[in-house]
Amino acid sequence: MGFLSFLTGLTFPRGVHPPGLKEDTRDKPIRRLPFAPRMVVPLQQHFGRPARPLVVKHQEVLRGQPIAEADGFESVTLHAPVTGVVEGIELMATARGPKTESIVIRTAPGDSQVIHWARPQDLERLNRPQLIQAIQGIGLVGQGGAAFPTHMKLSVPDGYDIDTLVVNGCECEPYLSADHRIMLEQTDAVIAGIRIAMKAVGADRAIIGVEDDKPDAIAALKARLDKDGPISVGQVRSKYPQGSEKMLIKALLKREVPSGHFPYHIGVVVNNVGTMAQLGTLLPRGEGLVERVVTVAGPGITRPGNYRVPIGTPLRYLLQQVGFTGSDASHIILGGPMMGNTVSSLDVPITKGVSGVVVLPDPEAEDTRMQPCIRCGHCVEVCPVGLNPSDLGKLAAVRQYEVMEERYHLNDCFECGCCSYICPSNIPLVQYFRIAKSLNRERLK
Ligand code: SF4
Ligand code: SF4
Repeated sequence: MGFLSFLTGLTFPRGVHPPGLKEDTRDKPIRRLPFAPRMVVPLQQHFGRPARPLVVKHQEVLRGQPIAEADGFESVTLHAPVTGVVEGIELMATARGPKTESIVIRTAPGDSQVIHWARPQDLERLNRPQLIQAIQGIGLVGQGGAAFPTHMKLSVPDGYDIDTLVVNGCECEPYLSADHRIMLEQTDAVIAGIRIAMKAVGADRAIIGVEDDKPDAIAALKARLDKDGPISVGQVRSKYPQGSEKMLIKALLKREVPSGHFPYHIGVVVNNVGTMAQLGTLLPRGEGLVERVVTVAGPGITRPGNYRVPIGTPLRYLLQQVGFTGSDASHIILGGPMMGNTVSSLDVPITKGVSGVVVLPDPEAEDTRMQPCIRCGHCVEVCPVGLNPSDLGKLAAVRQYEVMEERYHLNDCFECGCCSYICPSNIPLVQYFRIAKSLNRERLK
């Protein structure tokens, strides 16, 4: 195995150690749930431009059939998650906030829901641009939560050489264990996807970074890899946010991504293990992305676990299947509790980037009222990129958003939430920073 396989305890400076809370799901095999009677597939569920519909009202569609085409390079194809009939293209609630144009499909009752549409291809014959195009055609976006189109991530700008593909198998967010199960149950698919991604970026080696609280996943991967082959496993320390790109690169390669730069500037491309498993499964078969693995966990869920969920499944339906007894969406997070987003409605659909559905305890049960800053400095001690969240928070409170960006490096904040997590005064620092960044972006439009 590669040079990192014997190293342990690799990590990055600072960060926090929230409780893992994965016990209810990590040991349970991935299961499939019944198909919802109605699916809502937003045209915009990835970074970039929304897809353009290829179907019309009352049209019959087959599971796996393209139903919307990419609108330019910064967009991806969408595929029907079920065999059924298009009810319409309507503005529907999504987790992104405003209502989004979505293809609504009535699921065909009694259909076996096998994949009916596929265009297998000989990957050996594809050159790098053709490979990128093929990846765009299967509609793959980052499965770790960011939903960045994978073909864009694997398109290295001219003038840059990639020596290492880093694969993120850390899953450092509390509750989430989908990637853990994927590494155990879809090990060969993960490795197949890594080989395709290495070819796409032109990297000679790949390192899969896995936290040391997943020894079974590390063992499963190592058992499938050649000792001196180009793909190795780097065991990293369990710490949040170990899975963020810059922190993982630092832990595994001891390289810094400079402020305002991307990993490709230092010869690295990072992808998530779930994305690699989808790539390794779907691309050789020529099938589109129609489902993903989602961790469903937290108090209020009677059947927590990892579920294979068709894209477009309404959250309300998913929660009914896992025995959720509540009705209020106010404490439900899509993604993990550190970086995920609270949903405003149970009617939003599961989209390509949703790695988890976490029901959190009622915050009213604890005293979470905000208090003044006591200048304890804890937020400064934990910020992985060395910012001063306390000062940034004070500037946000007086709406000095431009000063935050120009003099306090706001744009280096990647919204990990470590500062909010550690703050004894319950100051919602990361929310302040999200708002400030969003308003600064608006200002520049
Ligand atoms: S300032 Fe940003 S990067 Fe630093 S801890 Fe807070 S959320 Fe994370
Ligand atoms: S952790 Fe909270 S209370 Fe302490 S310095 Fe930072 S903002 Fe102030």
